[in-house]
Amino acid sequence: RTRETAAVIPAELALLVRDVPDFPKPGIVFRDLTPLFANAEAMRCLADALCEPWNDAGCTKVVGIEARGFLLAPLVAERLGAGVVPVRKVGKLPFTTRRVDYALEYGTDTLEIHSDALAADDVVVVIDDVLATGGTAAGVAALVGTFSARLAGFGFAIELGFIGGRAALDRVTAGAAVRSVLTYP
Ligand code: AMP
Repeated sequence: RTRETAAVIPAELALLVRDVPDFPKPGIVFRDLTPLFANAEAMRCLADALCEPWNDAGCTKVVGIEARGFLLAPLVAERLGAGVVPVRKVGKLPFTTRRVDYALEYGTDTLEIHSDALAADDVVVVIDDVLATGGTAAGVAALVGTFSARLAGFGFAIELGFIGGRAALDRVTAGAAVRSVLTYP
């Protein structure tokens, strides 16, 4: 049987990110993480690296953003000994929700979280695959803020540095850290 056994170090993870030009529309280079997700050692390495900034942060909840954030948040939560909370596109969560409208490149979209998902004494880290404009993560920060929970910060597999999402998040959060495993300058 075949099995990937070679250890992967964080600097090598970028080799497993596939650039797909003009997806989902002309001019966008989509950073496709599926080759990395499919590699057992790379996935373990990515999960460890995503966790590293939060190992001593006392996090009690890891918020995953639909959809690719769902592939990463549980791995982080399990390592931190925290619970997982999904933030989803509108209309997907079954119980009562809180909603936030957030800015997209053109127009707005809506995210939801269950109304009982967090408590005021929760310490939260938000996980997603890619930080681009930061609009999505800023929306999630607003949702977390409605619970009075403490937002420790955000963790991303990839940060597209040239788009400026980090500065956008800094503007809407008070002291929440932004940590990315791979940064594209
Ligand atoms: P933003 O709100 O602009 O920070 O966009 C964040 C969301 O869009 C993330 O959940 C990503 O999955 C997705 N995204 C934006 N740009 C890209 C890209 N170039 N490659 C892959 N995913 C992207």
